[in-house]
Amino acid sequence: MTGFDVITVDGPAAAGKSTVASLLASRLGWRHLDTGATYRAVAAAALKKGIQSDDTQGLSQLVASLRLDILDEQTGSRILADGEDVTDLIRTPEVSRASSPVSAVPAVRERLVALQRELARNRNTVAEGRDLGTVVFPDAVVKIYLTAGAEERARRRYKDFQAQNKDISYEKVLSEIQERDQRDSTRAHSPLRPAEDAHVINTDTLTPEDIAEQIVHLYHDRCVRA
Ligand code: C5P
Repeated sequence: MTGFDVITVDGPAAAGKSTVASLLASRLGWRHLDTGATYRAVAAAALKKGIQSDDTQGLSQLVASLRLDILDEQTGSRILADGEDVTDLIRTPEVSRASSPVSAVPAVRERLVALQRELARNRNTVAEGRDLGTVVFPDAVVKIYLTAGAEERARRRYKDFQAQNKDISYEKVLSEIQERDQRDSTRAHSPLRPAEDAHVINTDTLTPEDIAEQIVHLYHDRCVRA
């Protein structure tokens, strides 16, 4: 498909995708593409413009004209929506809540999938999200699907929110994660599920370093066999 390799890392919310994908990208010297950030940026722009997350037409119009830029910096990548840096804003509970219904809108997915493919066109890329192995990069050289129990994932997300001084209870984080899992895996368009050829890894008891190491081995094995 392209002259460059893609490794996909899919899985539910807070399964450890970002930490693993970022470690892996730095181990390999590849680009780290966080596709969730692109859906979150659309959700943040919709909230700013007062577009409801069930307003399919409003969201389709928004995404048709919204400009998204991803800047790769030494400290990590920044994401800009119509020129505004929304990197921190997209991590708030409000944007997290809105991002799942927004991402179920077909026009939003079509536009963002095109953008994600474009971003991986000229660089080796570790891409993380929900549908990367199944829809966006079906020819990826290695496909990973990370899982972990909902309680463990809620504990991790709750710790992140606490570190950011966000006022939200553990129970609320857990119920929102369960709600998001349910919506992401039952939506009609590109539901969350492992690709048939994905390696499924449970992250409950493994460290991100161990998992990244395991994926580097899978990649090298694959290259030797190719
Ligand atoms: O991964 P993250 O939690 O940042 O993703 C935010 C939201 O974007 C998810 O709840 C999911 O609904 C959506 N998403 C998606 N497809 C992707 C990545 C994220 O639908 N490839």
